[in-house]
Amino acid sequence: MKVAMISEHASPLAALGGVDAGGQNVHVAALATALARRGHSVSVYTRRDSADLPPRVQVGKGVEVVHIDAGPPTHVPKDELLPYIPLLGDRVAADWEFSAPDVVHAHFWMSGLAALNAVRLYAAGSNQRYRQSLQASRIPVLQTFHALGTVKRRHQGAQDTSPADRQFLEPSVGQSVDRIIATCPNEVFELKAMGIDATKVSVAPCGVDLDLFSDQGPAEERGRKHRILSVGRLVPRKGVDLVISALARLAEQGRDDVELVIVGGGGTADDLAADPEGRRLQELAREVGVADQVVFRGQVSRDAMPGIFRSANAVVCTPWYEPFGIVPLEAMACGVPVVAAAVGGLGDTVLNHRTGLHVPPKDPEATATAIARLLDNPEMAAAYGQAGERRVRARYSWDRVAQETEKAYRKALRGSAAAEYSSVGGVAL
Ligand code: UDP
Repeated sequence: MKVAMISEHASPLAALGGVDAGGQNVHVAALATALARRGHSVSVYTRRDSADLPPRVQVGKGVEVVHIDAGPPTHVPKDELLPYIPLLGDRVAADWEFSAPDVVHAHFWMSGLAALNAVRLYAAGSNQRYRQSLQASRIPVLQTFHALGTVKRRHQGAQDTSPADRQFLEPSVGQSVDRIIATCPNEVFELKAMGIDATKVSVAPCGVDLDLFSDQGPAEERGRKHRILSVGRLVPRKGVDLVISALARLAEQGRDDVELVIVGGGGTADDLAADPEGRRLQELAREVGVADQVVFRGQVSRDAMPGIFRSANAVVCTPWYEPFGIVPLEAMACGVPVVAAAVGGLGDTVLNHRTGLHVPPKDPEATATAIARLLDNPEMAAAYGQAGERRVRARYSWDRVAQETEKAYRKALRGSAAAEYSSVGGVAL
């Protein structure tokens, strides 16, 4: 099958850890590669955000990244991209002129808009060319939202910088696409609350690269007896401040044998002072008296991540909300137990008292208690780590996710063929 993925802001080639570069980039890159392993050919369309990028980059057998000129060739925050989305769709459709995809898979709501626009344009063009042909194609569009505006608005309120039109454009994308691929059951619930018909939703989780992330291999040396780890984009909703506050609670109890390593940010550790969230977290660590126990690492490359995960006694994920969360899967793949706020996808991936411990969201006290339990019970922590490793191997390989995704593509193709047949049936040929 020829698959066109659209990922407007999140390129598979981007460095991770900045405000707009995280799970979606990983997801698109790994899913495209896993689909290619299954024999499909995948073109990932993303907006050109640097003048140096070549128009097309072959990133492996069966996967290419296509950089589309839409807006300035520099980084534009994703919440300011909407004006360029119609042009993105136009140019994607132009690229299909000589070789159209069988399915389009859009990632994030604005890519959904671009995909629907591209498919409409392509259909108009091909209808002209093959006016009376049964082949006049309707390419099905599948949508993975990655995050929903309704959830973001609920949690971030006035701090939500999404364009105001998202509140009606995003549900309309959900209603117009052929199928939606939700990453967890909680998302299906949210989609229903947006008025979307749940019968057109398939569920396929995010995955983890099991060749890269494993419990075998070297672990980075710790600076103190125990190490807890936080990994992710440095944005307030990831709740890294809660982990610092939990560390302060542990320090108040006389535990100075714990270090907290924080991975993420748009540049090196030295650049963090120029990053508003990086600065806020550094100030907080000083205020609560744990600055010497916190190590800010800034952006860390993929290859260096497994050694850092393996060095941790526990990975702590305390977001306010989390559409899915790939970091806990990476921790589990490395055999490390996870302390997770029981929100969104984390409620499914991390099993309470089996692969880690759940804590209520925004609760540094409970987070500190959970971390202490794992540190004080190394056998229990090791058992949770091993159970986590088994769990991700059984359920969260990208090959398995690609298989589920392919099923959704086939359902969408069957649906669009049926729709085409019924519309052709009404036309005098
Ligand atoms: N990540 C990374 N280097 C960094 C920061 C993050 O490789 O410096 C990766 C992390 O390992 C994970 C992804 O970025 O694969 C974050 O994905 P997640 O789904 O946890 O969060 P999202 O970014 O989607 O909110």
